[in-house]
Amino acid sequence: MPRSQVADRGPGFFKKNLEILPHKKRLDYLNQKLRGIVQYAYKHSAAFKKKMDSVGLKPKDIQTTRDLEKIPITKKTELMELQRKNPPFGGFEGVPIAELRRIYVSPGPIHEPGEANYHELGWAQGMVAAGFRPGDVAINTFSYHMVPFALQMIDNSLHQIGCVTIPSGVGNTEQQVNILKALKATAYCGTASFLLNIAEKAEEMGLDLRKDLNLKVGCVATEMLPESLRSRLEEKLGMVIRQGYGTADIGCLGYECIRKNGMHVPDDKIVEIVDPNTGKQVEHGKPGEIVATTFDKVYPLIRFGTGDLSILTETACPCGRTSPRLEKILGRVDQATKVRGLFIHPGQTDEVASKHPQISRYRVVLTRKEHKDEMTFQVELKEEVSQPEKLKSEIEQSIRNVMKVRGEVQFVLEGAIPTGAHKIEDRRTWE
Ligand SMILES: [Zn+2]
Repeated sequence: MPRSQVADRGPGFFKKNLEILPHKKRLDYLNQKLRGIVQYAYKHSAAFKKKMDSVGLKPKDIQTTRDLEKIPITKKTELMELQRKNPPFGGFEGVPIAELRRIYVSPGPIHEPGEANYHELGWAQGMVAAGFRPGDVAINTFSYHMVPFALQMIDNSLHQIGCVTIPSGVGNTEQQVNILKALKATAYCGTASFLLNIAEKAEEMGLDLRKDLNLKVGCVATEMLPESLRSRLEEKLGMVIRQGYGTADIGCLGYECIRKNGMHVPDDKIVEIVDPNTGKQVEHGKPGEIVATTFDKVYPLIRFGTGDLSILTETACPCGRTSPRLEKILGRVDQATKVRGLFIHPGQTDEVASKHPQISRYRVVLTRKEHKDEMTFQVELKEEVSQPEKLKSEIEQSIRNVMKVRGEVQFVLEGAIPTGAHKIEDRRTWE
């Protein structure tokens, strides 16, 4: 076995000097990288130059991350449209096509230029933060075909760390179990739900998950990770599981550290949270769309709109990293609604409900009264409670904590909420 004894899984860093930069130095660093990529992209990416010219901007107009607001956001639909008109990349590539190593094809279809030398930091930073160490034998069960995630991003990042990769790809659950057992793999990359399949298959095959398998750490991505699933897998397999977030177009945009305290933004990306209607940055702590900028010269996407909603926080993380963190992914922009200027989403209302086991069903009703939005959380209880006023104020507190807006709780009779009702019902009119 290659260097299989990996002892230290305490807090670790991939690029410590960057990860612990003091706030002011981090801003200087990001602003300097931003100016560099804007100048580069303006010169080498036809699509970016056109975008800047369309609003009368020159590279010198973009000096700091605040200036990003001036540049129109590029959405995935626009990327697809421009690629169709001007294949293969719509002019977004920053190097001649002959210099690429690979071209990836993601659902859409969207073409992604794959670089000869992989420089992205995010996934490697995330895996080390989760506990991956040089010498780990890692099974990579993400799909290797067509899309860039498994091959370009995860495989290369494992190599950057010094891990040994088993490129097993998706499917063949029984074979995956046999591979894990035979090679004593210590690390897992893939979805959490596929890891659950593997664990259940191994049990079915009569294996002891902790003795016959040797998994210690896992990096999961590409789907929502419910805490209940995480703790079930960690408990069953005796391993630590941390998640990462990103897109095929722009790479890693967030990763959890060992403290499991939101997702740190990697040091080679700028993440803004914006109002999707105006493209303007919202205050830290307020929800909005994740818009990202990379410093990658091969595919220099600047202000890419992910369509995902989140909240950015800059409070200190006990792990020592100073990067801002995405609190969590709240859902898609197109499912969100605004209440008193803030986005609310079914993912948040579910979270509120999950904190109170007394709730059997709920719906949120939005109304307007004297030109003000009102939010009512209608709740059906599983059974009568002895102190309804206390429960009411507890749920209202959860609403404030999770959704950042005030809402009133109204207990309704069992069956009062119609079956199949929307979780958020918007009854507002603006006459
Ligand atoms: Zn941290």
